[in-house]
Amino acid sequence: MLFELPKLPYAINALEPHISQKTLEFHYGKHHLAYVTNLNGLVPGTKFENASLEQIIREADGGIFNNGAQVWNHTFYWEGFTPVGGGEPGGKLQEAILKNFGSLAEFKEKFTKASATLFGAGWSWLVAKQDGTLDIVQESNAGNPLRANLKPLLTCDVWEHAYYLDFQNRRPDYVNTFWNLIDWKKIEERFSK
Ligand code: MN
Repeated sequence: MLFELPKLPYAINALEPHISQKTLEFHYGKHHLAYVTNLNGLVPGTKFENASLEQIIREADGGIFNNGAQVWNHTFYWEGFTPVGGGEPGGKLQEAILKNFGSLAEFKEKFTKASATLFGAGWSWLVAKQDGTLDIVQESNAGNPLRANLKPLLTCDVWEHAYYLDFQNRRPDYVNTFWNLIDWKKIEERFSK
């Protein structure tokens, strides 16, 4: 069974002006696709031939882990966006953010800082722990919190390929812009699952 590049849940230019069509053409159309292609080249003949991406994230290492996690991480990243994003979370997620971080503004500041200061390439994550409390974690390279039994809620890709065309070296500007795209309904759904 081959892995496939999932369709974007919006048009290729739908995230403008925050993230350009050109960035999506490269980031989704080339980088994300390359992880899918690489993974399909690596799994035949291994015990991951019929595995889910989640199983690969939990159990694989080396190239299969790196490419499998990158496929999952990117899909999760794209699905957290909507062209009419931004605003505030509601419901139980809002309560949990207030309880864990004091306010949405404080959460955003901490998450932005974690994203901006992550050394090298990687992903910053908002996660729920087993006990339902929230945390912010930084993962290098293809890292994914599922491996530590944490539930991923929101992620920011801070690999340079995510922002270089639009922001050059200004990662903090990219992360500040990222908030305009967040689909809080989707993040709430992930939290309540
Ligand atoms: Mn990326």
